[in-house]
Amino acid sequence: MPAEAENKWQKIYKFRGMDCHIHPDFSIDARGSVEAFVRRAIELGLSRICFTTHIDLDPHRLSADTYIRVGGKLRFASLEFAQIYRETVYEARRKFGDRIEIVYGFEFSYEPHFEDRVREFIRGAKPEFAIGSVHSVDGFEITSRRSVPAAARVFELRSFLRRYYEKILSLARSGLFDVIGHIDGYKKYLSRWWGFYAMERAEIEILEEIAPKLADAGAKFEINSSAYKRGLCAPYPSAAVSRILVSRGVEIGSVGSDAHSPAALAKNVESAINYTAWALKGI
Ligand SMILES: [Zn+2]
Ligand SMILES: [Zn+2]
Repeated sequence: MPAEAENKWQKIYKFRGMDCHIHPDFSIDARGSVEAFVRRAIELGLSRICFTTHIDLDPHRLSADTYIRVGGKLRFASLEFAQIYRETVYEARRKFGDRIEIVYGFEFSYEPHFEDRVREFIRGAKPEFAIGSVHSVDGFEITSRRSVPAAARVFELRSFLRRYYEKILSLARSGLFDVIGHIDGYKKYLSRWWGFYAMERAEIEILEEIAPKLADAGAKFEINSSAYKRGLCAPYPSAAVSRILVSRGVEIGSVGSDAHSPAALAKNVESAINYTAWALKGI
């Protein structure tokens, strides 16, 4: 086996002991303070965690992530909030930084029509780590149980994937994010309509064209273990997707659990790493 091929799957092991996708209770659908997460991470022996509070700046919709919980009250996501959040993470770093690396970051919802708002927010909030995720396509929240049946009726599988990956490509070209979040996270519910393996076949076709462009844009993607809790047999992305991405030069940038409570911290991250190493061995 050539040395380069050998390295591709071994590289993922450098992310062991990390969780870089965590929602503390600033997100209204999450439980557990920053400090509670840090204490749990130390208990688990993790070496690095990144807090990634959701921010959704889409002017067309008022989703849960448009609001942030601060001191028990709901507020619009703003730079003023970002300062409070950053200070909370820095405080945890001052207290526990000798035992674990603690990173201040966000997970941004992304679509091209509000890229400028995201850019402006990032300029003001200066995160140390930013995930960019496409959570909705043409008004359909594709990772929401409520919205998916309608999306599956409106779209045909290939036209949906094409539309989605166009947005992923402009996300990558924006240069705003360190990693693409849960790149095939739409499989969570849509695979019940279209079938997991039928989706993988269609993804391969589309990514043959898109993956080299993502590589040119310098994009990286995360391995996200939250898929397992939805009963999927693979993390995000599944084997076919991570194979085609990595073989076309798109690198893995982080691993994360997408935990919304301290009890879920780092859950299945080790399995997701082992699965991805297995998936990449063949390329
Ligand atoms: Zn997300
Ligand atoms: Zn998330």
